[in-house]
Amino acid sequence: MKTAIYKDIFGENIEVKYNEYAPCRICGLPVIHASMSGTDVCPYCDCGRYRDGTEINVKELMRPELLKKKAEEIQEELEKQKNEFYIKEENNEKLY
Ligand SMILES: [Zn+2]
Repeated sequence: MKTAIYKDIFGENIEVKYNEYAPCRICGLPVIHASMSGTDVCPYCDCGRYRDGTEINVKELMRPELLKKKAEEIQEELEKQKNEFYIKEENNEKLY
């Protein structure tokens, strides 16, 4: 569980507890961090981007099932790249 702090219209802090592993309302991946749109939209979707930084286009927004599938594929690719990086680092291979 994490805590997000938002300000109400009087400038008072509002603390919201949330599960960082709960699925994002837009992409379906774990939210990780709260965003300006709330605790159920990940910061990437809040900025209209996939997790690799590519833009989510309007057509994809209109087809949530395709958006979620693409988001998942991008996430898998990023995980694969991250794992390859750590394996190389463990083996002391030259990284660049
Ligand atoms: Zn998202």
